[in-house]
Amino acid sequence: MMKVKVLTIFPEIFPGFLGYSLTGKALSEGLWSLDCVNIRDYAFDKHGSVDDTPCGGGAGMVMRPDVLGAAISANYHGGRIIYMSPRGEPLTQDKVKELSREESLTIVCGRFEGVDQRVLDAWNIEEISIGDYILTGGEQAAQIMLDAVVRLIPGVLGNSESTSDESFEDGLLEHPQYTRPIEWEGRTVPEVLLSGHHKKIAEWQHQEALEITKRRRPDLLKKYLDSKRV
Ligand code: SAH
Repeated sequence: MMKVKVLTIFPEIFPGFLGYSLTGKALSEGLWSLDCVNIRDYAFDKHGSVDDTPCGGGAGMVMRPDVLGAAISANYHGGRIIYMSPRGEPLTQDKVKELSREESLTIVCGRFEGVDQRVLDAWNIEEISIGDYILTGGEQAAQIMLDAVVRLIPGVLGNSESTSDESFEDGLLEHPQYTRPIEWEGRTVPEVLLSGHHKKIAEWQHQEALEITKRRRPDLLKKYLDSKRV
């Protein structure tokens, strides 16, 4: 079972969508656990303040190192510790796979302009970004990362939800998918998928995957072709 600890000033946001569907079922079955720590519980002034104005001036507020540091030292007992941050290493499916093999994850969610750099340095905290855009808080990013990670924990996906030919699995985007009815508003399912000919179907799907990756993500296609060249 993977133990996840989240440090946040909004613990009520959790489990959020992680409480539904496959991740929610896995949570109630004990395939992973979620423990939320309210950073504000470690504030010590009479206002319970967790942030202060940035040194050097500028807009917004920065999360205080003394309060966040106290929350970390009371709750972090080893394992990977991650700060959700737009400056972090971009989250990829490879990274997700790697994280899904961890026994424990501690995740720090920022708010405002982010956290004081000294906390990141002091605890040697790894930074992960979910994309090149700015959110209002790390909670949203943490839930997205956890959603991707938890579904790869053994036992979370049933046999019917295999990951083997999903997008990114072999470096390509996934081929298009179809289901019944075979005819819908004048549109039909590609003939080959009805042929029952597994080899031909696999070839068609691979061709479609190459095609869509070429069109939408030439960067991925290049990586894929380079990896085949060796
Ligand atoms: N001033 C910061 C942005 C702060 S956004 C900067 O320019 O880098 C507030 C918080 O939201 C951050 O502390 C971080 O925890 C979270 N966050 C915002 N965008 C994110 C992203 N793309 N990936 C992961 N976390 C993000």
